[in-house]
Amino acid sequence: MAAFFHFPLAFRCWDAFARTALFVYGCLEFGTAAPEYLVPDAVQEEYEVIPWNQAKADQALWRALADGWPKVFLFDYDGTLAPFVPDPSKAVPYPGVAEAVERIIVAGGRVFFVTGRRCEEVPGLLGLHRPVEVFGSHGGERLHPDGTKRGLTLKPDQETGFEQAAAWATGAGFAAVLERKPGCMSFHLRSMPEEQRAEARDAAVAAWGPLSRASGLSLRDFDGGVELRVAGIHKGRAVHTVLREAGAGATVFYLGDDYTDEDAFEALGARGVSVLVRSQARPSSAKWWLRPPQELLEFLGLAASLCERDI
Ligand SMILES: [Mg+2]
Repeated sequence: MAAFFHFPLAFRCWDAFARTALFVYGCLEFGTAAPEYLVPDAVQEEYEVIPWNQAKADQALWRALADGWPKVFLFDYDGTLAPFVPDPSKAVPYPGVAEAVERIIVAGGRVFFVTGRRCEEVPGLLGLHRPVEVFGSHGGERLHPDGTKRGLTLKPDQETGFEQAAAWATGAGFAAVLERKPGCMSFHLRSMPEEQRAEARDAAVAAWGPLSRASGLSLRDFDGGVELRVAGIHKGRAVHTVLREAGAGATVFYLGDDYTDEDAFEALGARGVSVLVRSQARPSSAKWWLRPPQELLEFLGLAASLCERDI
């Protein structure tokens, strides 16, 4: 019997078995093998966007766009109409943008703002001389021009998830960069020193990832941090609502800069023109790409001409 038992070999076999068992248990129990899903599919694939100079020169396309009615414009706010600043409460539009948007509205264009902010924040920052319509909290709430607002009701597990996320952030010393909005909680990195951002983001993802999966919430990157949202709430919902209300004959544009706008670009699809507004292009499901502020102002000017039937 002793001839069949080789102690060192048996120990190595047992050791290998035990390590494998522990690894498999760890992956199953703690999900360490599963990467966090933070970025929409579209930006993980190669898409080509048409630069503004090429898009604006396409006369046939502009004439086709002129035929549609109503003319509908959905604008993201931060990074699209207004440059990023460390204090979001001071983010005002690029010079000339408010006047250009006002011209579109006066000419009969239907304008909506779609933002990750609370609805109420946008009208004051825009500085327009009229009530506006805003989809806030990534489409989780809607402010109508008459001042009425519709929001969403959280389920108990979602409410618990947000409370646990806030408790972790507060306990870890991140209370100052936390923003709670209806159906959404943002972890802002922009106000932190640059060398601390990657580590802080990783800590938030590590804490909020498991929590989101257990609470009916989704965890996503945005330009300036990460955020928890009620699953299924994204800017594409606002686009679907506007498309339904505007009717099949509408000409619809959506302008945005962020990963959070990719849901809107995809929702618009072939039913309108989606425009990536960034100083540098990136893979996106948007059709066009323009650089703010100069090309943005050119776009807004042409958009107003479309509404004035001057194209
Ligand atoms: Mg934005």
